[in-house]
Amino acid sequence: MVKATSTPEVAIIGAGATGMSTAWHLSQRGLRVVVFDRVGVGAGMTSLQPGGVRTQWAHNDTFKLAKESQDFYENFIERTGAEKDPELVHCGYAFVASKQETLEALKATVNSQNAQGIHSRMLTAEELGEMIPGLAVDLIAGGSFNESDGYFNHPGAPVSGFAEGALRGDAEVRVANVELIERSGNEWKLQLSTGEILLVPMVVVAAGAESAKLMTLLGIDLPLVPEPRHIFYSNPISERLIEPLVIFQDEHFAVKHLADGSVLASDLSPLPKNTKADERTMRRNMIAKGKRLIETLDYVQFPVMVTGHYDVTPDQQLLLGSPEGLPNLALACGLNGRGMMLAPAVGRVVADTVVNGNNDAVPASMRTDRFAEGGAGAREQMVI
Ligand SMILES: Cc1cc2nc3c(=O)[nH]c(=O)nc-3n(C[C@H](O)[C@H](O)[C@H](O)COP(=O)(O)OP(=O)(O)OC[C@H]3O[C@@H](n4cnc5c(N)ncnc54)[C@H](O)[C@@H]3O)c2cc1C
Repeated sequence: MVKATSTPEVAIIGAGATGMSTAWHLSQRGLRVVVFDRVGVGAGMTSLQPGGVRTQWAHNDTFKLAKESQDFYENFIERTGAEKDPELVHCGYAFVASKQETLEALKATVNSQNAQGIHSRMLTAEELGEMIPGLAVDLIAGGSFNESDGYFNHPGAPVSGFAEGALRGDAEVRVANVELIERSGNEWKLQLSTGEILLVPMVVVAAGAESAKLMTLLGIDLPLVPEPRHIFYSNPISERLIEPLVIFQDEHFAVKHLADGSVLASDLSPLPKNTKADERTMRRNMIAKGKRLIETLDYVQFPVMVTGHYDVTPDQQLLLGSPEGLPNLALACGLNGRGMMLAPAVGRVVADTVVNGNNDAVPASMRTDRFAEGGAGAREQMVI
């Protein structure tokens, strides 16, 4: 059994955006942290996300964390001392509704966002048509827009920045799979793929969808599953086709002309259960949907497909803080497709949980006990 000489006080499982932000926040508070990842820093779903950052969410708790995170990202270099700026560009996010009921739901979320100081506004179909050349205005009812939502020019920079900052403190990142986790007196015993066994007082589980597997080892059944998502990319196109990121909410379709000139398009409808992904069919369906909604996409080819998954909960809300009966373990998972844009605030909340030894910092809608007796909180409606 190995007990390192500079014994870590906290072990984090998972070196994605969530784990590394948590490591950074904890090291800022003077705790000795070790992060384990079976592949390395930012190698999981964090490596696939294209860098979308928005405050337009439906649930109060989500947009509060999104706002805190966006403010953090505005001053990322100053806050973390990172070398590379992620360059958050405020291209704006337009949510487009085809159905009247979706438009009404967007109006309600815009009102709640405005009450929290988030300056989203409603747009008519015609106003959206002026903003998005080629938009099929006759197919839509209207939408919402927030001009400060945006995109990172360098989507990998936040996780590297958090890692640099944490490593400058007392943190360590080790490439190892955590194979077993169990209680040992007042500590946690982690068995690593390197053959080592480590004893630590506190564990943070930030392993994406695989957090569920780790928690099974402790007899906890987390309602967390991987749900596939696919993004298509074009070759670079010099003429700018679309400036804001556009999300067709009823169609589960998103499109963005990125800083490098490539166009990103995604049909984010979850595949029916047990359906095998067939790249040709998905590409064909996505292109047909894109052309129907924005005719300027007509000539764009999408040779590259990237496949990943969201770590999804039944109410599409996060799983943060200590589950009942496990006070020295904190969850940081269930990001439901928004882990990069929420990472600064999520890391802060989890660090508060670790330092304070309670769940007071965790919003009620994100605590694990909301699933007790089969109940769940209000669903976050704006996951696409
Ligand atoms: C197609 C797509 C588009 C997306 N777009 C956006 C976007 O625009 N904006 C946004 O904010 N989010 C987006 N997301 C979501 C975002 O990518 C994730 O929410 C975020 O990366 C989650 O980070 P994480 O650190 O929680 O998980 P991950 O990055 O998956 O990290 C978990 C890590 O845990 C490690 N691990 C797992 N089990 C073990 C173990 N037993 N031992 C050791 N290591 C282990 C894995 O190797 C992995 O590196 C998108 C996701 C997808 C798939």
